[in-house]
Amino acid sequence: MTVELRPTGVACNIQCQYCYQNPIRDADNVPRSYDMEAMKAAVEREGGPFTVFGGEPLLVPEEDLESLWAWGLERFGSNGIQTNGVLINDNHVRMFRQYKVQVGISIDGPGELNDVRWAGSLERTRENTVKTEAAIERLCREGMPPSLIVTLHRGNATADKLAVLHDWFRRLAAMGITSARLHDLEVEGDDVGSAYALSTGENMAAFSSFAAMEAELSTLRFDVFDDMRKLLSGNDDSSTCTWNACDPYTTRAVRGVEGTGQSSNCGRTNKDGIDFVKAPVEGFERYLALYHTPQEHGGCKDCRFFIMCKGQCPGTAIDGDWRNRSRDCELWKGMFRHLEDKMLDDGEQPLSTSPERRQIEGAFLDLWSAGQSLTIAGTRRWMSEGRDLAAVSGGGTSHGDIPHGDSDLGDG
Ligand code: SF4
Ligand code: SF4
Repeated sequence: MTVELRPTGVACNIQCQYCYQNPIRDADNVPRSYDMEAMKAAVEREGGPFTVFGGEPLLVPEEDLESLWAWGLERFGSNGIQTNGVLINDNHVRMFRQYKVQVGISIDGPGELNDVRWAGSLERTRENTVKTEAAIERLCREGMPPSLIVTLHRGNATADKLAVLHDWFRRLAAMGITSARLHDLEVEGDDVGSAYALSTGENMAAFSSFAAMEAELSTLRFDVFDDMRKLLSGNDDSSTCTWNACDPYTTRAVRGVEGTGQSSNCGRTNKDGIDFVKAPVEGFERYLALYHTPQEHGGCKDCRFFIMCKGQCPGTAIDGDWRNRSRDCELWKGMFRHLEDKMLDDGEQPLSTSPERRQIEGAFLDLWSAGQSLTIAGTRRWMSEGRDLAAVSGGGTSHGDIPHGDSDLGDG
């Protein structure tokens, strides 16, 4: 669990066309001020450490960032930021080093491949991309390589563009980047879908090409494939939140703190333009419903990958309705099949083809019915220890979500 601190809410210096925070912007729910002491008190309540998020968090004045990070280092021993990288200057780089700030940068590729991360005109967009690329190079040169989030869409991952993206990742790996997260596009509306979404076939081709590429990149990892392999082998104690049961009304992996100090949820669940107050109790009705609902009606019934995938992130649900499975079902099913085949070829037994799968599904249904959730590995331990629900009360102790890691930087 990481606390996402959002002093300036969804305010941003660019206008990515596909940003999942656009419903909040369209409703003009953008704060005009923040309260440092209220934010720190809220972070304390959540238990920190925190990552500064936005919108674009480098819109926060440098003296306030310094105050937050000095406090964060003293209190929690490290800091984080997720940024589009355009505004990074010398003073920011000094602070990143001085206050042990782990930097995450959202960018969709070099040059024109990043054009969908729009800055108002093509000229400004390209200038901004140059700045972000320069910031990545500088941080690598100075021994602080950032992690990257790259969203795949029609602007960077169609067949004619993939070779450029591959070469870019090779250069990044040579520079010292070790961690990249590939996102499928979160589609907030039909206009975004028709303009930017890849077809299922294109998505499969793109994701498969990066899975194959990992073999030649010895240091750079795409965490989506590591997660999926771990899920298939039931060794998923620290998988990304999108593979765990996530209640959209109180997203366990993302504890948001707004500029007023108010608690909030992961922004991916805000489909109505409203930052709903965080619910105090988790519910797993979505997962019980998905298990029992036929796929032709938006559920996941009879999918052998269900305990691994769980219908994926509720923020990507069909029609923006968290009760449905992910609109990218065919992509995830295809990728699970692909990795499952590889494991079988290597003589390993994936959970998806194991007789144990039904027992684990049954245990998950019992846990969810009792308002609890665990990882597959945690559920196996719970089963071997006699399925004592009292042992997992209070939110569960083995639901090792790694947050999705991005903010609102148009990287949905
Ligand atoms: S990205 Fe999806 S799964 Fe993760 S916290 Fe947000 S809504 Fe939940
Ligand atoms: S692959 Fe599709 S049907 Fe299977 S669990 Fe995931 S979203 Fe549901």
